[in-house]
Amino acid sequence: MPEARRCRLFTVLSKMTNPTPAEFRLPTPGCYADPERSGLRASELFDGMTEHLFFTLGKLAPSATKHDLYMALSYAVRDRLMMRYLVGKQALRETPRKTVAYLSAEFLIGPQLGNNLVMLGIEDAAALALQQFGVQSPDTVLEVEEEPGLGNGGLGRLAACYMESLASLQVPAVGYGIRYEFGIFDQLIRDGWQVEITDKWLKAGWPWELPQPDEACVVGFGGHTESYTDDKGRYHSRWVPAEHAIGIPHDVPVLGYQVNTCNRLRLWRADATESFDFYAFNIGDYYGAVEEKVGSETLSKVLYPNDGTDEGRRLRLKQQHFFVSCSLQDMLRSFEKRQISLEEFPQHWAIQMNDTHPAITVAELMRLLIDEKHLSWDVAWSITSRCLAYTNHTLLPEALEKWNLPLFASLLPRHLEIIYEINRRFLQQVRLRYPGNNQILRTLSIIDEDGDKAVRMAHLATIGAHHVNGVAALHSELVKTNLMPEFSALWPEKFTNVTNGVTPRRWLALANPQLRTLLNEAIGEGWIQDLDQLSKLEAFQDDKSFLERWEQTHLAAKRNLSSIIHRRTGILVDPSSLFDVQVKRIHEYKRQHLNALQVAAQYVRIKEGCADHMPYRTVLFGGKAAPGYYMAKLIIRFINGIADTINSDPDMDGRLRVLFLPDYNVTTGQSIYPASDLSEQISTAGKEASGTGNMKFALNGSLTVGTLDGANLEIRDRVGEDNFFLFGYTATELQSLHHGYRPWDVLTQQPLLQQVVNLVEQGHFSNGDRDMFQPLIHNLTHHDPFFVFADFEDYLRAQEEVSRAWLDRPRWNRMSLLNSARNGFFSSDRSVREYCTHIWKAQPFPVEVKCELPGIT
Ligand SMILES: *Cc1c(COP(=O)(O)O)cnc(C)c1O
Repeated sequence: MPEARRCRLFTVLSKMTNPTPAEFRLPTPGCYADPERSGLRASELFDGMTEHLFFTLGKLAPSATKHDLYMALSYAVRDRLMMRYLVGKQALRETPRKTVAYLSAEFLIGPQLGNNLVMLGIEDAAALALQQFGVQSPDTVLEVEEEPGLGNGGLGRLAACYMESLASLQVPAVGYGIRYEFGIFDQLIRDGWQVEITDKWLKAGWPWELPQPDEACVVGFGGHTESYTDDKGRYHSRWVPAEHAIGIPHDVPVLGYQVNTCNRLRLWRADATESFDFYAFNIGDYYGAVEEKVGSETLSKVLYPNDGTDEGRRLRLKQQHFFVSCSLQDMLRSFEKRQISLEEFPQHWAIQMNDTHPAITVAELMRLLIDEKHLSWDVAWSITSRCLAYTNHTLLPEALEKWNLPLFASLLPRHLEIIYEINRRFLQQVRLRYPGNNQILRTLSIIDEDGDKAVRMAHLATIGAHHVNGVAALHSELVKTNLMPEFSALWPEKFTNVTNGVTPRRWLALANPQLRTLLNEAIGEGWIQDLDQLSKLEAFQDDKSFLERWEQTHLAAKRNLSSIIHRRTGILVDPSSLFDVQVKRIHEYKRQHLNALQVAAQYVRIKEGCADHMPYRTVLFGGKAAPGYYMAKLIIRFINGIADTINSDPDMDGRLRVLFLPDYNVTTGQSIYPASDLSEQISTAGKEASGTGNMKFALNGSLTVGTLDGANLEIRDRVGEDNFFLFGYTATELQSLHHGYRPWDVLTQQPLLQQVVNLVEQGHFSNGDRDMFQPLIHNLTHHDPFFVFADFEDYLRAQEEVSRAWLDRPRWNRMSLLNSARNGFFSSDRSVREYCTHIWKAQPFPVEVKCELPGIT
């Protein structure tokens, strides 16, 4: 590095660490970084990489591996985020603005490098820089990145899209969550069964986080409460926890698209408290102290499945309280630094609870304000209830979080006292509204008194929040009418809808580069920031040559996916066949088994020689099953059994190929969504709250075969019924069908379904093993709680329509184009704008970054 530059760097750094004295003010306000370290040209990226290879990674360029180059480029790109990140932070300190705190136990952010290149607009520069290191295809370096699997599926991915849109819309925001050491497991398929492998995403180092140990927070657990009188004679309660953990924040910068706003994701890692080590040292129990340390570190050790069974319940509640308490302390601290009265807290923070995982926020904020800040109950409640909002994500009763009372009391005794008081005051309100109605008190109470007593987290969240929203129009309606009718009658203005969205940067621009090029050429680049502009595509719907190019673009994505499939499974698929895709978590309500049975029915038809009109299809499945969810794992085995049989049957002659692509995650999703022709959105009506996969598919030009469920409804409204393959009973119809439903009777009326079921029972898809799928068939024929048989016949009809439509390619291409053109609504920018306007009352705060640095020499 030239001497002049080193001096300059030193000057800049010393000015940053001592900003107060007047003589240290920077000559150019707002400029904090060495421009050569922030330059976006290929040569500057190359210099940055060289420096990081040498100084950060201890490598010489000629011996650098792909992973070294990935790390070096990531550090160089991270340097380019830092200026925006720090300037934004400083600007907020000087001019406080309302900040959104998005609390979520999951953030499924996906790989960072490629995305940040898109956000900075430096993909070409990075490719050139890599070329200097002998890398011809940047993808070979990008694909080295381990994605942090800090979420199960849709809910965590939604949180990631929202953080990105908040930054792109220049709204100040922090995402608060947990830095799990082990995220969602990696999935292998062995003998057709799912095998779970620990996700060691940190093992090779992850360059995107900045640990901030000086901003650690202490969180208590267990113990007891006591009352005392202070020196002014006032009565107080306090919590005396039995154990503590420390939360160390790890910050991940979240840059907006082509703006200077760089927000952060603040993820807490649990550590042991120093004081406890010290205490144990004094009494000579060194190993006991180490055990305690190990104990508190397991707090952020692993992500739990969001479905399945009761695995690790106690630890989960601990995790929730841990990250909520750290986050609230962090907000209060930042607030006090600015020396503003606590009563103004709601003007400075809008706190969103993503599902009930952070619902303990209601009690913890009250505790902090009352016990630690000594505010009165009424003032504390006014602050709390003006800050908080809650998003409901599910109507499935088994997914609504409840904590049994003894567990809750043993872990959070003071919170339970506060919850009782919240409940007492709330029920008094209800009593005045409904005199003499004891039933409604039982229904609305935070404490479930039926059977084992339990704390209902959805009730706590609803009472503490100023707004409760569902995630799609239908879902929000069902929250009001089915899930919480009494709450909705009590507070009709509290309940609202914000339909989910996905970010067009990751899911179109990054994931589908060929389509991006075509779109930019046809309608300009405006769609990336304003997805409604996709409607300009309508002008091309009858343009034959454009539709031809549309198809070619799609084919390129399918070729790319085919080569990934070949590399990972050894199976060859035909890119010109219809790619029929169902990727999402495996769950009975999502009905992958309905799809599998339908595929088996197509197989039977082809075997019977009625296949002349059927197009060549490649049916792709992907998704993880919760490790403790037996039926979901059996469904994976079922799909693989069907796939093996069909793929090895010479009668198929390539007409039908079925495969299960292992380890579906954000990275593989980015290759899958753009390469799909048909999107399977076939959940039991009323069960899928919204879905976001459906949006990613449609925006990339997939047609949907689906039920009237979640956001499918809104997609269909937009694309028009002619461009959507609808089937199945509606939620309302299923409600009335419910009691008299006999799947066995349905089966006897459907010969083709019966043939399929017979084949399964005879072991045709399990190498003669008649027992393997018995539990699945038994469940379907006896209970069928998700109406698989009820919807089967209509689903088959819809699939025949799909086949017919595919054979008329010009028509299909037009439908595909219209799916992109008409779904701009599903940008997460639109969702986030709705949250900002109706719920958070938060505004954009553009950050200015000047970089000329004229005065520094
Ligand atoms: C979008 C996405 C999901 C959600 O898919 P749905 O079809 O809405 O259930 C789950 N996992 C990943 C990795 C995703 O990208």
